[in-house]
Formats: sequence, structure tokens, C-alpha cells
Amino acid sequence: MTDRNEDSALMRTYARLPVAFERGEGVWLYDAEGRRYLDGIGGIGVCGLGHAHPAVAEALCEQARTLLHTSNLYRIPLQARLAERLTALTGMDAAFFCNSGAEANEAAIKLARLHGRRRGVAVPTVVVTEGSFHGRTLATLSATGNRRVQAGFEPLVHGFVRVPYGDLEAVRTVARNSPDVVAVLVEPVQGEGGVVVPPPDYLAGLRTLCDEHGWLLMLDEVQTGTGRCGAFLACQAAGVTPDVVTLAKGLANGVPIGACLARGEAAALFAPGTHASTFGGNPLACRAALAVLDVLEAEGLPARAAHLGEWVRARLREALAEVPGVREVRGLGLMIGIELDRPCGALVGEALDRGLLVNVTAERVVRLLPPLVIAESEAATLADGVATLIREFLAAAA
Ligand SMILES: *Cc1c(COP(=O)(O)O)cnc(C)c1O
Repeated sequence: MTDRNEDSALMRTYARLPVAFERGEGVWLYDAEGRRYLDGIGGIGVCGLGHAHPAVAEALCEQARTLLHTSNLYRIPLQARLAERLTALTGMDAAFFCNSGAEANEAAIKLARLHGRRRGVAVPTVVVTEGSFHGRTLATLSATGNRRVQAGFEPLVHGFVRVPYGDLEAVRTVARNSPDVVAVLVEPVQGEGGVVVPPPDYLAGLRTLCDEHGWLLMLDEVQTGTGRCGAFLACQAAGVTPDVVTLAKGLANGVPIGACLARGEAAALFAPGTHASTFGGNPLACRAALAVLDVLEAEGLPARAAHLGEWVRARLREALAEVPGVREVRGLGLMIGIELDRPCGALVGEALDRGLLVNVTAERVVRLLPPLVIAESEAATLADGVATLIREFLAAAA
């Protein structure tokens, strides 16, 4: 066990579990006593290739010995190469690189405002949804549909109008009543909001509305992207191409990076001096992301996430079918949520005691975001372990 006092010089932003990991390998993490844990949360959807992946480690070591950082005062060939790979994978035209999901969304929101200014809109307004999560900077927490993320940080950034998630009619109503709307920003599947999958026609319906009104369709794929949901982007499975899409979590397997990709007019809105990041797209981060893309492609990991995710959900549904208190097993690809009828945060510590790393979000939803490289036998261990835990948790509480 770690001494909690060791953390006393840290600001108290996190309610951390009493464990620290020393090393990892694939889907396994090891603490100082050598105890191993099956990682069902993958650093919150970051470590898609698992821990200490040799291809990423090799690329990072070589790049660290060669060149880490030069700044965007100069051309960065690795950044240009990563932009080419990502635009080819997503159907976008250009990329801006930063260091996190929130920053990628900040770039998207700034693009929406430039798009609005160009159209002569006085107060460019972005449609956002209830239950959404877009980050912790002032603009992205203002876009976020969770009062607890916003409380204490008022005044919020203006220029957002909120609608229920998954509800196209509500967006149509906004279209009729709010002439200042210039864009829609949504997650294809809500992550922090509780692994909420919208109706099947939702993204396509938003695409149509955006086309009708000259709005930008901006998808926050920070959690759903990079192969997690069964295609490189979750929206590709729905056959929808956005105007702006943001990536971060899984893009470099743990090296901080964010990307804002855009297409058409939106790809040409930034001009020199209008947006920037000192670290953004530096050679180290781009090299790591390129290594991730190589492995994703070579091993067909997005397709694997699609079928393995279905398989895990089927196994969980079967194991939990007759269990009162289990509301729903849902998700897309290897983004999996099990909604209970009561708060279940305590389940996370019980899982830890049994060597399983899971997460609870939106109070009642057990969330799994395992590495995309998880073997079938490991996925079975994870599903069975989680099902047992949930059964015992609900039985003890009854
Ligand atoms: C995690 C997340 C963010 C914020 O990413 P950070 O890297 O923590 O800033 C934004 N949007 C979504 C959908 C996320 O899941």
C-alpha cells in the first residue's frame, strides 16, 4: 500500500484509489508488491494497445534519442505525416494538434465561432447536449452537460444552447427558434455521461440538419475514436462524415496528444496567429501516434473491437439476465456500460481487491474500456469477474 501522506503536496483534484502501479504489460498492471490487476479501464480509454507495447516503446526511445521538440516555429515532418494519416483515415482535410481532449474541443469551438463570424452571426452559438462531457477548461466545461463539472466556476462561457441527447426533434426546435446557431457538438456515444448510445438515426439526422442550416457537425470522438467503437471513428460505423472531429485519449497510447480534424470550409478557418500550442504536435507525440496507427492497421484492431465488444456484452447479458437491479448492458465496440438501478461507486474498490480495474460513471453505470488488444480469454475473465462482482454487490445491498 502507498502512504497517503506522500500525496499531500498534490492539489486535491482526485479521489484516488489506494494503489499505485509500478509497471504494466499488455492488459496487466503490477503494484509494488508484484500483485497483478486485469486492466478493464485502460487508463480511461487511453491505452488501446495495452501497457508497454513494444512498438510504441521502441518508437518513443528512438525518437527521444533523436529529437523531442522544436516548436511550431519550424516545419515538423512527423506532424505533417501524422496529419496525412489521420485525414486519410477520417475523410477530413486538415489537422491541428494539441495535447488533450479538452484542447482539441477548444479548437473545435473556436472553429465554430470563426464559422459564425464569417456568416455574420452576432453571437455564434453551438448546440450541445445534456449528459455530455467535453473537458475541464472554461469553454469545454461550459459545453459539458453536467452541473457538477460547472459548479463553482461561473461565469460560464456563453454561446451554447442545450438539448436532450439523442433527440432530433429538440434540435429541430432550436433550428426554428435560434438564428444564431452555427454548429452542433456531440459525442457519438456519451462516455462520462454513462455510456449512452443514441438512437441509430441520430448522427445521420444531425448531419441532415447541419446541411440544411449551414451548421458545422462537430463530433467529440476523444473517447469513442481511434478504433474503440469498432471503426476508426464511431461515426464511420453510422456512415456519417462530420465537418470537425476531435481525438485524444487513445491516439498515442498514453503520450499526451489531441487532434482537431476538419473538412471543407472548416479546415481553412484558422490562419497564422489565430490558434497555437507550444507542445502541440511535437515530434515525440506524433511519433507515438504514428506507431499506434501502424499497429491498429496491421492488427485490424477497430474491427476486432467491434466483434469482441459484442461478444463481451452478450456474455455479460447472459450472466446478468436474471439479476434484479441490472437495468441494461450496452455500448459500442469496446466501450461497455452496465447500468444498475442504484449508485454503485463502491463496486470499484471491491473490484480492485479482486485484481480487476473497472470504473463507475454517472453514479450507476459500471464502465469498461479495456485495451483493444485484450485476448478473448482475458475478455472472458473480465466479463465473468465483473458479472460476479455486480451480482454480489446487488445481493449484499438488497
Ligand atoms: C476525456 C474526454 C474529454 C477530455 O479530455 P482531456 O484529455 O481530459 O482534456 C473530452 N471529451 C470526451 C468525450 C472525453 O471522454
